[in-house]
Amino acid sequence: MSTGVADPFRFFSLQVVRTKRLGPSLVRVTFGGPDLRDFRSDGCDQSLSLFLPHPGQSEPQVPIELGDHWWQGWRALPDDVRAVMRSYTLRALRRDPDEIDIDFVLHGVEAGAAVPAGPASRWAARAAAGDRVLLLGPAIADNRAIRFRPPEDTDLMVIWGDETAVPAAAAILESLPAGTRARVWLEVHHAEDIQDLVTEADAEVTWLVEDESRGEVPHRLKGVGGAPIPMALAALRATQLPPAEHPYVWIAGESSCVKQLRRHFVGERGIDRRRVTFVGYWRQGLTEEQLREQGE
Ligand SMILES: Cc1cc2nc3c(=O)[nH]c(=O)nc-3n(C[C@H](O)[C@H](O)[C@H](O)COP(=O)(O)OP(=O)(O)OC[C@H]3O[C@@H](n4cnc5c(N)ncnc54)[C@H](O)[C@@H]3O)c2cc1C
Repeated sequence: MSTGVADPFRFFSLQVVRTKRLGPSLVRVTFGGPDLRDFRSDGCDQSLSLFLPHPGQSEPQVPIELGDHWWQGWRALPDDVRAVMRSYTLRALRRDPDEIDIDFVLHGVEAGAAVPAGPASRWAARAAAGDRVLLLGPAIADNRAIRFRPPEDTDLMVIWGDETAVPAAAAILESLPAGTRARVWLEVHHAEDIQDLVTEADAEVTWLVEDESRGEVPHRLKGVGGAPIPMALAALRATQLPPAEHPYVWIAGESSCVKQLRRHFVGERGIDRRRVTFVGYWRQGLTEEQLREQGE
């Protein structure tokens, strides 16, 4: 994602229109505002940067009046003033009226949670109509914050995501044309987080539920040395994928799970690494700021 405001990304000033609880771990927040007229996206796993206010602030603090220099100005603001910047996925874009949906995982907000909630999860849990946010998002539909790019000759899509990537996987599935073969593994915390997915593709979707996996397959958060293990790894190793000459793999979610699955597809299954798109959406034990600092 660009850190400047040059095309194709720009700031959009939005307000919460409504929220809808999709399950114990997921809330859909619908945003609207006149700025959305200029918002364009081809969807799929379109990522966005969301800027959220701190508790007590009426709007997020980002010096967008500095134009291309907003980033330096934003970084210079005190920690408790500077808007919280987090990455999310466009779940849906509608017109008349202009609205977008973002689905937030509510991690750490339940009583007695092992890891305290981050600011975005906390914000989403309390979001209400009228709340203001800023979005750094696309003004050009085909942009580089869409990573899902299957080569034209793809004859099998293989998709894995944890609950943070369910919105992207759901949007990807909605975009696939009839006749596309897809094998999909999605991991969620609770059975009530399972959603009905809409697709014309010939897709076989397997939901893996952490609550139900205890004692059967390795628990996602109890790997060797504390590193999470994707529940899908055991399932995948035991699965014969449908025969395909040109598979394309898309994996997104917790970083070390993504790494292990990439190794499985490239190392164990011999899939051409250029046909594997992998994106770490979060890392166990690190906030998004800490993750970004490591990448800088
Ligand atoms: C391209 C991209 C697209 C994304 N799309 C979505 C999306 O559509 N919906 C969505 O919910 N998330 C999405 N994410 C993930 C989201 O940005 C992170 O989960 C983010 O860390 C949440 O911010 P926070 O302020 O709640 O927690 P942070 O302050 O960043 O982290 C606080 C603590 O919580 C832990 N943590 C962070 N996320 C989770 C989690 N999901 N489960 C358990 N512990 C967690 C961290 O390791 C840390 O210990 C996406 C990330 C990327 C990079």
